[in-house]
Amino acid sequence: MTAPLTLHPDRLFPAEPAARDAARAIYKTIAGLPIVSPHGHTNPAWFADDEPFPDPASLFIVPDHYVFRMLYSQGIAIEGLGVPRADGGATESDKRKIWRQLAENFHLFRGTPSRMWLTHAFHEVFGIRERLDASNADKIYDQISECLQRPDFRPRALYERFNIEVMSTTESPLDDLRHHKKIKASGWKGRVVTAYRPDPVVDPNFTNFVGNVAELGKITGKDTKTWKGYLEALFDRRRYFIENGGCTSTDHGHPTAFTADLPKAEAEALFAKVIKGNASAADAELFRGQMLTEMARMSLEDGLTMQIHPGAYRDYNPTVFKMFGKDKGCDIPMQTDYVHALKPLLDRFGNERKLTIILFTLDETSYSRELAPLAGHFPALKLGPSWWFHDSPEGMRRFREQVTETAGFYNTVGFNDDTRAFLSIPARHDVARRIDCGFLGRLVAEHRLDMDEALEVAQDLTYRLVKAAYKL
Ligand SMILES: [Zn+2]
Repeated sequence: MTAPLTLHPDRLFPAEPAARDAARAIYKTIAGLPIVSPHGHTNPAWFADDEPFPDPASLFIVPDHYVFRMLYSQGIAIEGLGVPRADGGATESDKRKIWRQLAENFHLFRGTPSRMWLTHAFHEVFGIRERLDASNADKIYDQISECLQRPDFRPRALYERFNIEVMSTTESPLDDLRHHKKIKASGWKGRVVTAYRPDPVVDPNFTNFVGNVAELGKITGKDTKTWKGYLEALFDRRRYFIENGGCTSTDHGHPTAFTADLPKAEAEALFAKVIKGNASAADAELFRGQMLTEMARMSLEDGLTMQIHPGAYRDYNPTVFKMFGKDKGCDIPMQTDYVHALKPLLDRFGNERKLTIILFTLDETSYSRELAPLAGHFPALKLGPSWWFHDSPEGMRRFREQVTETAGFYNTVGFNDDTRAFLSIPARHDVARRIDCGFLGRLVAEHRLDMDEALEVAQDLTYRLVKAAYKL
């Protein structure tokens, strides 16, 4: 006997009746606004080629590290879930078998955002009305598979059905942006832009850093063996991204928020060291820090909004990293300092009104102690939404509760889904909208905000602030 799958209209609203009534009234006015997705990791080839998504497992399990990290934690082998191996080893190729493992273990996701995102997509996109379990695994697999064959389930059709106004992907400066060019040339009205993520060419610890910088030189015709030529090449590539990919932002995934502002001769000498490929850990950190300041300088020139996503200990599990490579669910948050780390950058550029630097964190203890006071003072700083491990109802509530009193709403930039899982985009934005409405509903119920103001803030958080911060 399977259980029904329902989405309650009041889900995620406060349980207290006055706050819930206010939240409902606010939500009604923003529920239908278009999705602005200013930062994410979907594959632009989907929208360039508009090929059908292959099967339910390849859509929901294989690319989603939130899903397989949980399954792995309960003893399920990653190779059994069809995740491609970096070491060339065998992985499960029977998609139905992979799907059954999710179905049999679906209870593991109770109370997690993954469970909400998956069930939202099952219900809203595929019309599924039974809760996934071992007994209906095959039936639901077939139902999703049949949908995926239809033209109205192709990437572009889904983009339109999700009411996405604009969506950003993320590419390395070495990318030629062929998919973005193809999308633009196709005449399709969907707007898929790129974001400039220079980690492969500014982080001396990145795989093949020296080779990547040489490649950057080849692409741009600049002498990237010199500090001057290297900086020119990075700036040139930003221009290329703006012109060919509609780029409006950069993204920096450094291990820490450390920044530096070295005199030119010292920066030159440091570059000469790291480009030989034998940087010490301290050299690498200093170089990454210097590059954040260089990137801020370039942003002031070309207008790209800068995002800093620090604080992930990437590939923490060497066994999984060796077998499967990067982004496989073994990244762990670290304690992160902002006050001292950002000072060199802020000393130089913090007072610039024309610069927007959006800060993210995986360290929630920094919200009210460091981030809200910094963003509540420096004109150049804004706070990105609760991110990754905190992209969840409780995480979003904690974010609003801990930053609003010091930074207000207007030093934040709305929501971004930051996802590889395309089908989860409407679910994630809906969660953010509901939580924001719940927070605003509580302020109204406590007579801290008038209803007309709450309605305006809801519009701003959902739509206007995102477009403004990311210049979309
Ligand atoms: Zn991201």
